[in-house]
Amino acid sequence: MSDRLPIVDNLCRNPENHAMHMCELKSAKKTAEIEKYAKDPQYICGNCGNTANDKGALCAPGPLQP
Ligand SMILES: [Zn+2]
Ligand SMILES: [Zn+2]
Repeated sequence: MSDRLPIVDNLCRNPENHAMHMCELKSAKKTAEIEKYAKDPQYICGNCGNTANDKGALCAPGPLQP
C-alpha cells in the first residue's frame, strides 16, 4: 500500500486536469508548481481548501474572500 494514488474525488470539476490541481501537486510534492500557484492567491478550492492564483489549478475553484 505504499504506492501513491492520485486523489480524485467527485468534487473535482476538471478531472482531466487533476494532475495540475493543487491537491495532486501537494500529494506529489511538486514544490515548484505549488509555489508558483500559491503566490498571491485569488481562488480557493472548495474541495480541499488550497488556494491558488489560477483557478485552473484547483478542483473546485471559488473566489478567495479576504
Ligand atoms: Zn482541491
Ligand atoms: Zn482536481
